[in-house]
Amino acid sequence: MSLVPSWSYTAVMEYIQCPRKYQLNRVLKVMPFQETEAMRQGNIIHKAFEDRLREGKKLPEHLEHFEKFIAGMERKVMSEQWSEVGAEVEIVYDRDMQPVGSWAQTSPRPWFSKQAWFRAKFDVVAIIDKRRAFVADWKTGKRKPDLPQLELFAACAFKSLPDLEEVTTAYIWTKDAKQDKRVFYREGSDGLQEGVSEKSEAQIWGEWLGHVDRIDTSMQQDKWPCKPTGLCGWCDATPKQCPHSKK
Ligand code: SF4
Repeated sequence: MSLVPSWSYTAVMEYIQCPRKYQLNRVLKVMPFQETEAMRQGNIIHKAFEDRLREGKKLPEHLEHFEKFIAGMERKVMSEQWSEVGAEVEIVYDRDMQPVGSWAQTSPRPWFSKQAWFRAKFDVVAIIDKRRAFVADWKTGKRKPDLPQLELFAACAFKSLPDLEEVTTAYIWTKDAKQDKRVFYREGSDGLQEGVSEKSEAQIWGEWLGHVDRIDTSMQQDKWPCKPTGLCGWCDATPKQCPHSKK
């Protein structure tokens, strides 16, 4: 059995960036956490969108330009063109990569289940109909499309919604109100024959579980090499913890 206690997009990306950082942060749990101003602002913005989508609360002034977009999705649900729109939907799978709980279950929250091994969260989900869905992530930083995360979103959507054939994944950039979108089709569906998806769901999971296997090997061998890059300047490791620390 894998020694990796649980994983997520963020955890795997941290390992890929630097195994030593992953070890300090997630295995030894000795990395001092410092919330940056950018993180704080990001959390405030995510909460504002969640409150708007879940409770209809007014968006703060600097996000008001998104009201049209959200209201447009809600109108489609009201007019029954779309099935539902949700916020902060949690996806949880066990060690066999089988869903824990049902889709979008909130009580009890599968997120805290002992069976939880993989966790992901969709900031926005629109179920258009049984066959089609839209999933998106609010992005508050500098615009930088990240295809692997969108691929993982698509694989999660296909795994969690067995009838889904087409999923549009998107980053919604809150600073410049732009979207980066990718459309994925389930293998064998009519859409896939149009040749739009670069990878199948199986390929995407194969790649991610390959990363998780590499973390497992580090755990088995207790080997966590430093990987110094330009990102060391943003790492919280102290000089005692890593010779490449910029603290
Ligand atoms: S300072 Fe750089 S090399 Fe050291 S743990 Fe952090 S990211 Fe890795």
